[in-house]
Amino acid sequence: MTETPKKIRTRFAPSPTGYVHIGSVRSALYNYLFARHNDGTFSLRVEDTDRTRLVEDAVDYLLKVFAILGLNPDEGVVLDERGKVSQKGDFGPYIQSERLPIYQKYVQELLDKDYAYYCFCSQERLQLAREERQAKKLPPMYDGHCRHLSKEEVEAKLQAGEPHVIRMRIPQDGFTEFDDLVYGHIKIKNELIDDQVLMKSDGFPTYHLAHVIDDHLMQTSHVIRGEEWLPSAPKHILLFQYFGWEVPAYAHLPLLLNPDKSKLSKRQGDVATGSYLDKGYLPEAILNFLLLLGWNPKTEEEIFSLDEMIARFDLSGVNKYGAVFNVEKLDWINGMYIRKMELGKLVTLCVPYLEQDGLLEKISDAQFRNKLTGENISFEKLQQIVSLEQERMKKLSEVGESVRFVFEEMPQYEKELLAWKKITIEDAQKNLQTIYDEMEKIEIADFTKENLSELINRLKEKTGLGTGELMWPLRVSLSGLKNSPGPFEIAEVLGKEKTLRRISRAIHL
Ligand code: GLU
Repeated sequence: MTETPKKIRTRFAPSPTGYVHIGSVRSALYNYLFARHNDGTFSLRVEDTDRTRLVEDAVDYLLKVFAILGLNPDEGVVLDERGKVSQKGDFGPYIQSERLPIYQKYVQELLDKDYAYYCFCSQERLQLAREERQAKKLPPMYDGHCRHLSKEEVEAKLQAGEPHVIRMRIPQDGFTEFDDLVYGHIKIKNELIDDQVLMKSDGFPTYHLAHVIDDHLMQTSHVIRGEEWLPSAPKHILLFQYFGWEVPAYAHLPLLLNPDKSKLSKRQGDVATGSYLDKGYLPEAILNFLLLLGWNPKTEEEIFSLDEMIARFDLSGVNKYGAVFNVEKLDWINGMYIRKMELGKLVTLCVPYLEQDGLLEKISDAQFRNKLTGENISFEKLQQIVSLEQERMKKLSEVGESVRFVFEEMPQYEKELLAWKKITIEDAQKNLQTIYDEMEKIEIADFTKENLSELINRLKEKTGLGTGELMWPLRVSLSGLKNSPGPFEIAEVLGKEKTLRRISRAIHL
């Protein structure tokens, strides 16, 4: 008889202590991809046992961000059809604060088996003990003060209502070992493992106890989580052993680092995922970027659609070494996705940013108004405008700044900008006059970038002027910028009348 392979079940288990960190999204992505790749289940469990650091709308925010990114959990805490936080699945509740009786039952089991003990040490005593150990250069661990209290002593203290926690009893000798799918075989002396608090004085379990129980009861097959948990993993392995439960597979993901190699911390800079979406990074680009932050395709490829990620993802491709969170790389990937995007879709995504920058007002899906000039703009025109920047744009939030010159009645710039290399302002204006005279002859309907390019070629031949001598002043006269799209593209978007008006203005500056 062949054994049916174990169903792959992964989980993302955020603590709702802030707005979801971009590094946590990477953990969620890897859990999601691993589950999808193996026809498994990806669930979301809320670990809210640290009652002092809760942020009320953190879960709602997280699920909304996940919905935008396309990382919807199959099970656990999810958004319902009305967009409200709810729960689904056979292993609930999936919010730890709703599971307190379960933890109580299991911690009692540990107490009964003497794998856990009551600790009545006050904060002051723990502090003193810590300082003493520090002075002796001993590792910062609980000193075992309550380890050997007799049953009677414990009973008396409990009767007297003394505040207490419950700690895990770690064996004083031997080793704990396990295989991590990323970091390989880990073996640690038990004497180096702390008697971890399992139950706090407020009656809530710590992460260490709660997640072990939940991962067992929720049949988690793979625990894929950040490297910061690797040092605690031996305690977790011991807990599984104490309960007599099968240990899930572990894969710890490498730390995310700032470019200066410091840890990308929750408290540092801009790490809330939503702010990346607000800035106009595309969901698919964010996922692609996070995929490569710790996973190696073992080829030179860098751009992966979600389907490709699912097909290719494998825990053996996860790196051990810290991954540098390099925003330039994100910009580059985002730019790649913007370039590949269908223009109509890009325009629709750009509209809110143009509105936000006070350039555009949406009248309907097909009609817009230029807020600087009051002119009507069709969707087609808007497509032309945005296409000017599609090749160069790194994020959607840049669109307003880069196409503002098209919206303006007349771009403002210093006339010195017209000068180029040896060409003086006066030369530039003379060249512009030559261009003006030729352009004027073109029919409105023929005012296309192809015809304009031909026109400039003709002028080069006729006048002996070089490309830059004609193109630089022309481009500046149309955009007012040092860097902008090419002048023919701009002229076509502006149309004959506006183009000539801008050139004329430059001539008379
Ligand atoms: N609640 C833990 C955290 O937010 C989860 C770690 C884990 O995935 O086990 O870091």
